[in-house]
Amino acid sequence: MPGSTIYEELGVPSVVNATGTKTRIGGSRIRPEAREAMDRAAEAFVRLSDLQARASDLVADATGADAGYVTCGVASALALGTAACIAGDDLGAMARLPDTEGLADEVVMARTHRTGYDHAVRASGARIVDVGTNDRHLGTGSRNVEPWEYADAITEDTAAVAYVAKPYTEPDLKTVCAIAHDEGVPVVVDAAAELPPATNLERFTDAGADLVAFSGGKAIRGPQTTGILAGRADLVSSVAAQHLDMHAAESVWEPPTSLLDPDELGGVPRQGIGRPMKVGKEELVGLISALKAFVAEDHDALGEEWLARSERVADALDSVPGVETTITATDKTAVAPEVAATVDGDAAGVTATEVVAGLRREEPRVFVGADSLPEGFTVNPMCLTDDETDYVIDRLRAHFDT
Ligand SMILES: *Cc1c(COP(=O)(O)O)cnc(C)c1O
Repeated sequence: MPGSTIYEELGVPSVVNATGTKTRIGGSRIRPEAREAMDRAAEAFVRLSDLQARASDLVADATGADAGYVTCGVASALALGTAACIAGDDLGAMARLPDTEGLADEVVMARTHRTGYDHAVRASGARIVDVGTNDRHLGTGSRNVEPWEYADAITEDTAAVAYVAKPYTEPDLKTVCAIAHDEGVPVVVDAAAELPPATNLERFTDAGADLVAFSGGKAIRGPQTTGILAGRADLVSSVAAQHLDMHAAESVWEPPTSLLDPDELGGVPRQGIGRPMKVGKEELVGLISALKAFVAEDHDALGEEWLARSERVADALDSVPGVETTITATDKTAVAPEVAATVDGDAAGVTATEVVAGLRREEPRVFVGADSLPEGFTVNPMCLTDDETDYVIDRLRAHFDT
């Protein structure tokens, strides 16, 4: 394995990432231009509200939304976005969250959209109201959630509808937005990993979403602790009021009015529910710079590169007895074409679980995708260099003893 890492210097095994942009093994590689920008950001001071106001314009340009905000990830964007839907421009409500007594605090969500990340929605003080079933898998032809079930669940206690954007989620976002908007309720969309294609930056806003969240630490390749929230200016303003550290002498409080209007707020917000989700100037600048580079990137060329890497891995695995591979289409569950390998343990002399676990115990640790265990594993090219791809092929072959 070429080169040694700072993690090894610290006595911590580093990871060769063959499973894509996963938080638990470090997200993605920050783009060189973003790293340079972060370095420069660290050299000087800036008022964070000014920087967020500028970021808002840039995120708005990139997404077609009215406004934007940089959060410390999508999980934080979901917490802040939900808090904005609950509190609006009410300073008192902002100060009381996560205590929601007397406030509309329900978030309507399809059962089949629930993920571990909805803890972040609840962290705002919201209560999730589930709708629909998981009937699709019964084979009766019935769907998981009918549009009328959303309408039925929305009441005067509803603060928002939460929607997780994945190729498999239903009903389509446009339908859900139309229903929610009929009732005057905003829709918050988790689109954390739905990039590329870059056209998805606009897609969910175009479909009617009031707030959309993207991870900064996945394909955008900004700092791991960043995310984007894009959407309605009034909601973004509420996010800013609940996130920024502004508790200051009112007589000299002059926030950027494009982001925060003191007349509308009627006073200086106290430290809000977002204060534990701080975003530093370096991360903010890193994300802005990474987003610019992501928008300008040739995603077709990148897709070709990923495909070539996946094909190289698949070719190597296909010659292993008991292993069969396919390359998944980009529009399935992953944004990159990845290798899906199935392992016949008897023919291969080793099971997929043994191979995946064995790779993780090495130094450096090699992480391949484990979601399809025990039948097989996946290799995702997004976070691999060419040298690392060769290394992964070599280590896979060693575990299959070929
Ligand atoms: C990655 C992910 C998140 C969390 O994003 P962070 O930016 O790491 O907070 C939330 N939802 C989905 C669907 C994700 O894939």
